[in-house]
Amino acid sequence: MGNSIAHHDNASIEWEAVWGRYGALMDDLPAAIAAAQRPLPVGFWVNPLKAPVVPETLAALRALGVDCTSIPWMPGAFRSLHWVAPGHTLPFFAGWCYVQEEIAMTAIAALDPQPGDRVLDLCAAPGGKTAQIALRVGDTGCVLANERNPGRMASLTATIARLGLTNVITTQADGRELALLPGSFDRILVDAPCSGEGTLRRRKQPKPWNSTHSQRIAAVQRRLLDRALTLVKPGGVVVYSTCTFAPEENEAVIDAVLGDRGGLESFDLPTLHGQPGQDHWQGQTYRGDLRHAQRYWPHLNDTGGFFVARIRRADTQIPNSPPAQSIADPLAMPWTPTSPLQELSRRFGLPVSQLEANSLCWTTGQRRQWLTSAHCIPPATLAPQTLGIPLATQTPRGLKPTTAFLQRFGPHIQQNRVMLDTLTQVETFLQGRSQALASTAIATEGYVHVGYGPYHLGCGWYQHNRLQSQIPKTLQWVKPQKS
Ligand code: SAM
Repeated sequence: MGNSIAHHDNASIEWEAVWGRYGALMDDLPAAIAAAQRPLPVGFWVNPLKAPVVPETLAALRALGVDCTSIPWMPGAFRSLHWVAPGHTLPFFAGWCYVQEEIAMTAIAALDPQPGDRVLDLCAAPGGKTAQIALRVGDTGCVLANERNPGRMASLTATIARLGLTNVITTQADGRELALLPGSFDRILVDAPCSGEGTLRRRKQPKPWNSTHSQRIAAVQRRLLDRALTLVKPGGVVVYSTCTFAPEENEAVIDAVLGDRGGLESFDLPTLHGQPGQDHWQGQTYRGDLRHAQRYWPHLNDTGGFFVARIRRADTQIPNSPPAQSIADPLAMPWTPTSPLQELSRRFGLPVSQLEANSLCWTTGQRRQWLTSAHCIPPATLAPQTLGIPLATQTPRGLKPTTAFLQRFGPHIQQNRVMLDTLTQVETFLQGRSQALASTAIATEGYVHVGYGPYHLGCGWYQHNRLQSQIPKTLQWVKPQKS
């Protein structure tokens, strides 16, 4: 007991040392330090494209021991103190939900995307906010999700495929120089790279603020925000957010860049406690409308830390300046429209006319096909990495539908569907292995859609009463090691 108190005291002293510089900003430093040392609740939201209605989804989670309460200011979002390994559950695998730091959802509440909007997410990986935007703009809107770091692109495209988002295009480029025409977007999110002080509860220890690092990153943040203010249309909305507390990376960035190109607006989130942005810090004075920004300290809502500002672009014409880098030759893009839907429709009994009316198919190279919603057209000036979700691949055995496509359109599939009966069969399938099935599996030889109860799991190859899993390696569950 004595040791644990001593440990707690030492830890608190360490936190105080790190957060001392914010003492003047924070109402209750000891409460913030106490909150920072408690485990972070798991935030998540339900994906209406794939999950059943919310009560059924929550019942499925409760059956797995996941109790949760709703987040009052974000419809469809929840927090749980009891979800230990969300990634290794069927609701997660089937794309029913997305696990996301609760306080980070404020960026989307501030952006407030509307059906039909064209939205740019400038710094998008791993894609939680991209997905929330995509769900709000719907099939008549489109999201361009950009990420600079090639190593983080995989997490972004995996999120889009798992959640079945056909209205997202991804690009891999430096957001500071994104080669797009000025005024192209209704809304832009700049969820900027930052020094990450607000993610402290996940790391379980304080991260000291470092002036040199912060100055370097603030230079990047200024250029990202500057580019967003050029690419948004007159009267459009830009949201600038970070998961850090330092005014040097928040208020100072906006103050340096915005000028008369727009002004800050408040965004109302009932029941959420925030602190207004600062108009001064360490001898610097900033523009007064920064008080409309919000800084969320961990103890105010029992969350991580976050900063959000909503900026309304002035309603004046943007000078017709050329994009920041030379325009790529659109003809050089490896994407061409195609139509493999008839073949998939024949195999799975899908309502192809309905699909064709609402979608576009694209091909890269000879083999890979992609599916977007009809309004999701790639920009003429920038080669995309992905368009919507992967649809199918041409193989020597015929057209192989992707797991992403079968999961998303599973409820419409009429034939060549294999329903698994037991969790052991499901685990074998998700581990990427082959298994014998009883003759209850009603399918003809070839690629099949595999399900289990209400879950659409993905693609298998069915032949001679054996099912060979076609789940991509990156999604497979790891077989437990024998001890
Ligand atoms: N919005 C994401 C989400 O909700 O899942 C989180 C974004 S994270 C805070 C910032 C991202 O910006 C990182 O993935 C980082 O690799 C990326 N990034 C850093 N510098 C960038 C730049 N110059 N252009 C575009 N993205 C950049």
